[in-house]
Order: sequence, then C-alpha cells, then structure tokens
Amino acid sequence: MKIPFVDLHAQYLTIKSAIDQAVADVIRQSAYIRGPYVEKFETEYAQSMGVKHCVSCSDGTAAIYIAMRGLGLKAGDEVITTAHSWISTTETITQAGGRVVFCDTDEDTFTIDVKQIEAKITPRTKGIIPVHLYGQSADMEAIMAIARKHNLWVIEDCAQAHRSTQNGRMVGTWGNAATFSFYPGKNLGAYGDAGALVTNDDKLSDWCATFARHGGKGDHIMEGINSRLDGLQAAILSVKLPHLPAWTAARQRVAARYDKLLAGVGDIVTPKVAVGRTHVYHLYVIRTARRDALREHLTAAGIATVLNYPKALPFYPAYAYLGHRPADFPVAHANQSRILSLPIYPEMPDEMIDHVVATIKAFYARA
Ligand SMILES: *Cc1c(COP(=O)(O)O)cnc(C)c1O
Repeated sequence: MKIPFVDLHAQYLTIKSAIDQAVADVIRQSAYIRGPYVEKFETEYAQSMGVKHCVSCSDGTAAIYIAMRGLGLKAGDEVITTAHSWISTTETITQAGGRVVFCDTDEDTFTIDVKQIEAKITPRTKGIIPVHLYGQSADMEAIMAIARKHNLWVIEDCAQAHRSTQNGRMVGTWGNAATFSFYPGKNLGAYGDAGALVTNDDKLSDWCATFARHGGKGDHIMEGINSRLDGLQAAILSVKLPHLPAWTAARQRVAARYDKLLAGVGDIVTPKVAVGRTHVYHLYVIRTARRDALREHLTAAGIATVLNYPKALPFYPAYAYLGHRPADFPVAHANQSRILSLPIYPEMPDEMIDHVVATIKAFYARA
C-alpha cells in the first residue's frame, strides 16, 4: 500500500461539483483579479474568525511583509521570533528592514519558548512574531502579557494553524495582526498561491489594503506593491471555508488514532498538546532518536514522510551572518535530528493510518 504525505485530490472529489461551478462562474464573469469573489471571501473569512477585517493578498509570505510594513517597521528595528519555522517568518523581517532575533522553542510544543523572550528585548525591539507551528497555538496569553508590558506589537503567523485555540480563543484574534497562508497543502488551501492578514485595527487594515494594491487605485497616495488575491482562488476558498471545521475535526481524528496506536512504540514521542490549547494538526510530527533509519524504512515501504524542517532557521546559510551556535538554541537544534512528519490529511482512511503504524512497529520489532 503506497501512502502519500497528503492527498489534495481526495478532498477535491468530496466538493467537486461546487468547485467546478465556482470556477465556471468566475470565468463566465471574467472576475479574475480582485472583484466580487475576493470581497465575498474577505468578508466571510473575517466573520468566520470574529475579526473586523480581512485583507487578502497573493500568499502567506506577503501577508507577513505587508503587516510589518503596516506596523511601521524601520531599518534597524528588531523583531523577536522562533528559531523553528518556515523561512517566510524571518525573511520578511529582513525585507521590511528589520533585524531577526531568534528565541529557542519549547520542548513540548515546538512553539516559541516564552520564558526566553524578555531576555531578548532591547531598546530597538518593536515586535514579536509567534508561529503556531504544526497547528498548535503558541502560548498567546504569555506573549500578549510580555507585549503589553514592553509596548511591542504582535503579528501571529497562523499559516499552519487555522482555527487552533488557546483558552477557547482562536489564533489570529490576539495580536495586532495575524497572517494566513492558503497554500494548497495548508489546512485551508486554495488551488494556487493565496494569503491574507486579519486585524481589528481599522487604520492598519486600510493601510495594508492600499499598500498591497500599488498604494491605491486611481489615486496613488504612496508607493505600494502588487499583492492581490485572484478571483478563482477566492471563489474556491469560499466553497471550502464552510468545510474547515469538519476538516479540522477530521485531522484531529487522524492524530488521535496515531496517538493511541503509537503510544509506547519504540522510543517514539507523539505530539504533545499544552493545557488549554488545541492542535489542528497541519502536521503530525513525532520524535525519535532513530529518525533517519525509521524514515528510510518507511520510504522503502512506500510511505511518504517529510522533515519540517531539516534545520532550525539560525543554522541555515541565510543566517550564518548571525554567527549562532547549537548551544544558543539547544531544543530547536536537537529537534533537527529527531523530528519526522507522518502522513496526515482530513480524508486519510483508518486503514492507511493503521498501515503506517504497523510499518513503524515492524521497524522497532526488527531492530
Ligand atoms: C506556509 C507558511 C508561510 C507562508 O505561506 P505562503 O503562502 O507559502 O507564502 C509562512 N509561515 C509559515 C509558518 C508557513 O508554514
């Protein structure tokens, strides 16, 4: 049995007629860039989260950049973020003129270690970007308390965590702004690149919408960038959005089955969810000291796995200029050689989960 890492086509088949209709409607109306479908999705997405504004844009990386520009980041300003994320989180800090300041991650949740944030704050620190990595909320209660105390802004990178919560409050509703990716494989995925930022701040929303569309249509009140959502993606996202709660529950069902079946198998540590938080399992990431051998065994058996990510951000060549050593971020560094992402997607059948687990058990039995 071949097991893919994700199966986007399986999801398409469950909503095929509505998607095909939506795509045909956009084409019939030539509503390709912005237009009514984009406005409709922006309204629906903001409503689904209970926030005032959604500003759509070309992708989740652009959303982070636009939000930081909107918050007025200046050359030399410092932004504190996690050592473990996709590089979008930090490349945009540099692009916006800022300086990246890394924090190590928490041993249990893979999210920023909030105990280390205050020690990294300097007079030049302007903001914090927590990442709800893999689908679990960072400790937003603690992060917002630190931000209030030191007068810092917070941008939540929610690219992997649509509808995840802490103490019943959804990610994306805590900070000054929050950014989402609708990359096809994300929990809410378009059929191409797409992204958005959400905020309750009227002025920030206006500024970001203007900036993302060449600094204004008709009257260019400033120079901007071109970062627009297209009508096809918006119409597809509007079809998919009502299914997101059920798809999230389906991911949690897959994770719960893995949790149960993998308990006590070899040296595997299954994902831990902190008290008061929920996990929406964009990724299901286990830890084992025998990661590379296990991964080879699974690959040979036709089971796809991924490393998210092979290195912590400070240890990529892109950040060599910061001169960091493994001892600066011991948890993120140790995770490099022990994390392994197993296949997970809402439509994944139980038999496939069971087959992945049986193959893992065979690895430990043989060894
Ligand atoms: C996917 C992702 C992004 C960027 O999203 P794109 O839409 O691919 O630009 C940003 N941050 C994290 C943590 C992501 O996983």
